[in-house]
Amino acid sequence: MSAARTHLSSTTVFHGALVNPLDLHSYQALPHALLCVDPYGDIAWIEPHVPDALVQDVMARKGLVGDDVQVVQLKKGEFLMPGFIDTHTHAPQVPNMGAGQQYELLDWLENVTFPMESRFSDVDFARHTYKTVVRRVIDSGTTTCCYYGTLHVEATKVLADIIHEYGQRAFVGKCNMDRNSPDNYVEPSAEASVQGTKELLEHIRGLPPLTSPRPAHDTDRSQLVHPILTPRFAISCTSPLLTSLGQIAASDRSLRIQTHISENLSEIAFTKSLFPECSSYADVYDKHGLLRHNTVLAHAVHLEDEEIALLKERGCGISHCPTSNFNLRSGICKVGELLDRGIKVGLGTDVSGGFSPSILAAIQHASIASKVVSFQHQPGHAIAVPHHLFVNHSPLANKQLPIPALLHLATLGGAQVCDLQARVGSFAPGKAFDALLVSVSSAAGNPAVWGVEVDEALGIERGMGMSKEQHLERMLEAFMFCGDDRNISRVYVQGRVIGGKEWAASQP
Ligand SMILES: [Zn+2]
Repeated sequence: MSAARTHLSSTTVFHGALVNPLDLHSYQALPHALLCVDPYGDIAWIEPHVPDALVQDVMARKGLVGDDVQVVQLKKGEFLMPGFIDTHTHAPQVPNMGAGQQYELLDWLENVTFPMESRFSDVDFARHTYKTVVRRVIDSGTTTCCYYGTLHVEATKVLADIIHEYGQRAFVGKCNMDRNSPDNYVEPSAEASVQGTKELLEHIRGLPPLTSPRPAHDTDRSQLVHPILTPRFAISCTSPLLTSLGQIAASDRSLRIQTHISENLSEIAFTKSLFPECSSYADVYDKHGLLRHNTVLAHAVHLEDEEIALLKERGCGISHCPTSNFNLRSGICKVGELLDRGIKVGLGTDVSGGFSPSILAAIQHASIASKVVSFQHQPGHAIAVPHHLFVNHSPLANKQLPIPALLHLATLGGAQVCDLQARVGSFAPGKAFDALLVSVSSAAGNPAVWGVEVDEALGIERGMGMSKEQHLERMLEAFMFCGDDRNISRVYVQGRVIGGKEWAASQP
């Protein structure tokens, strides 16, 4: 376990291109922004338009002079954006990425997933595996992550320790599963499952806090790693177990809850047969006190109309996991409709149902998924409206998701799902500086990204009269659809560099 995190040594000011999500329908593209991060890693202020010649003047006016101010000047082809938020992934399944795509959910669990997860009874195996898992997730640009562990208490403590040591912001849960699981991978009783959960909660809450002048009672400010209740899914939990978890939740409104819902038709039918007294899959969780403002529900592919209304009433968030939903043939979540109905939605990689640890893949597949939905509903009638022409925000149901909506899902939407929107998801004074320094230069080495310097070398001029804002929008779209970890130079959490290509190159 690492020592308590000390504050940063200095104030840092970034000057250059910045992308900042505002809501589902809009984002800021600022080619010459000046953003100041205080020594504790929070954003102090943002000046949206500062030409090169005025940087020193603005800093002087803000009282920033002397050696304890570090200035980071972004280069051509670079921009800052908020870090990605992965609202649903399974740390112990990362070694299985790319395996088992021939199965649907329940067979995939039995044949691929449970055999791997059962290995985490070996704490040394867990430690070695989780070190490379967390490193990969960070370097993929994920600054906040909702992790499922296994059912093992000790291995999941180790996962939380490693995340804490590496400096990522995260929610970490131990799976609760006391039935319908393999003999070698099931908890002996509801009581044992609950006891293990309490032990993990205590462990994570005991991790050394951040050093900060802010009030210590706000754990979202003083801690990066938080516990999260994690009933695997209704099938693997008895009613007494779910009842006990609901009681733990009731004792602490800030404790997040994560689980799966309505992923696959066979899963839904099995769930209903196990809980005949409940009117729907969502009602199972609701009757046990597990649906509320900080519940993260993964998939939600086949929700019934009344379930959507219930989730809206309870304020739950949905983790949209399109890569996994395509890969395991689960179906397509109607994200546009959920968003129109005011439900919070973020993105999840759902490794290893999903085959990539990167939210970029989830963005790309969320776009494709929305386009498939649009084919099914309005053949020949789709109207393409540039996002800046939206007057009264067009509904998103049954349409392709535009760039601002995709960016929102990957950042601010994910923060809302985790009930962390006051801390992360966008750049604003008082929020944490959780950010990516992105490079869409060809020098990054990603053959899919056509760098602006190649255009210049070849004399290619695009969009006569294209403004610098439009150039930045084009860089963002190229990163979202063609980018990968090679285009992520630095990953910042709470103002500290914790990963990325440049960071890796600087390590001994
Ligand atoms: Zn999952």
